Amino acid sequence: MQAWDVIVIGAGAAGLMCAAEAGKRGRRVLVLDHGKRIGRKILMSGGGRCNFTNYHVEPGAYLCSNPHFVKSALARYTQWDFIALVDKHGIPYHEKTLGQLFCDDSAQDIVDLLVAECETAGVTIRLRAEILDVDRLGDGFRVATAGDELSCQSLVVATGGLSMPKIGATPFGYRLAEQFGLKVLPTRAGLVPFTLQPEDKQTLEPLSGVSLPVVAESEDGTRFAESLLFTHRGVSGPAVLQVSSYWQAGERVCFELLPAGSLTQAVAESPNQELKTWLSRQLPKRLVEALLARGELTSKPLKQYTAKELAAAERLLAAWPLQPGGTEGYRTAEVTLGGVDTDELSSKTMAAKKVPNLYFIGEVMDVTGWLGGYNFQWAWSSGWVAGQVV
Ligand SMILES: Cc1cc2nc3c(=O)[nH]c(=O)nc-3n(C[C@H](O)[C@H](O)[C@H](O)COP(=O)(O)OP(=O)(O)OC[C@H]3O[C@@H](n4cnc5c(N)ncnc54)[C@H](O)[C@@H]3O)c2cc1C
Repeated sequence: MQAWDVIVIGAGAAGLMCAAEAGKRGRRVLVLDHGKRIGRKILMSGGGRCNFTNYHVEPGAYLCSNPHFVKSALARYTQWDFIALVDKHGIPYHEKTLGQLFCDDSAQDIVDLLVAECETAGVTIRLRAEILDVDRLGDGFRVATAGDELSCQSLVVATGGLSMPKIGATPFGYRLAEQFGLKVLPTRAGLVPFTLQPEDKQTLEPLSGVSLPVVAESEDGTRFAESLLFTHRGVSGPAVLQVSSYWQAGERVCFELLPAGSLTQAVAESPNQELKTWLSRQLPKRLVEALLARGELTSKPLKQYTAKELAAAERLLAAWPLQPGGTEGYRTAEVTLGGVDTDELSSKTMAAKKVPNLYFIGEVMDVTGWLGGYNFQWAWSSGWVAGQVV
């Protein structure tokens, strides 16, 4: 049996960060991954340019059943720490929008950074490693792979969430947590496009390709000012992806198409104009036509609207309601909500409270960030804090 100090399962963002840090402390570290490439999700992230962090990282940008849980790790290894590492490796990057930092060239730069850090720290990475079984062995663990029997003092689970099963996502981490008696919260797709209800298809499908700035709002009042994109299957775009993480089946989402008061002002300024003509100057024409076709608005000269009609139209434009049929699911989701319950883990070290020397880092746990580099920052921060102690 090969003995290691630390075995990390998952050569993704969190696993590699943790492995490099533990290696720097002189620990003998082995990273196992069943895939044939390192960091596959990193490579396809950010449209191939990896949105690796965000200038505005703060705990409020994370969904977790315990909102305080993320504070410690995010404070100990910040976006500035990761940016310093990116600078150290000479990787060119830029801010795209809303503090989101992307590589100028390729996401491969971030994978190369992690691999270089692991190499310097003497970490061994084994790909195509199928893990058959994990058991307790004294204070540590025995890990059986298809080829080898391994043992370790500390076991780190960094197998990520369920999104994109095509590139190797599995529920391995959840099953392992359950095997050791840890609670796993129900999972669902997050940062994911919505599909339409059958009754909306006829009027909304023709809008495919239309995009506009909106404020999307979930039923719990969380709001995101970003763009909405109509697609041939439903609605997408950053505003939708963001709000999808706050959406539960059966709920509505509202889109502010125009700020409240816009129409009232238009009545005062252009009383003779038809609603349709005025609106087509403010919003994409095809959307205006769809709102009329759906009977959500009627068009006539603005001065002919009664106060009640005006208020109703104003309300609709300020909070256009849509009840999605569902989401596109894990096939296209960027993240998985839910996962290993953070109540089971130390927020300082990511160690399982009731199973000594077992750690969970990254997306496998019930921590999900907003769109915009927040999820990678969680992988870096949680991986780094565990790397200091495993
Ligand atoms: C298309 C897409 C684009 C994204 N873009 C961004 C972005 O730009 N910015 C951002 O912040 N976030 C982005 N994300 C989210 C981000 O990729 C994840 O939150 C992050 O990768 C999580 O890191 P992790 O280390 O926890 O898991 P992962 O990076 O998913 O790594 C998990 C690793 O575990 C391995 N594994 C899984 N099961 C097993 C098993 N049974 N045995 C062995 N190994 C296993 C996998 O092969 C994988 O290598 C994106 C996600 C997707 C799907």
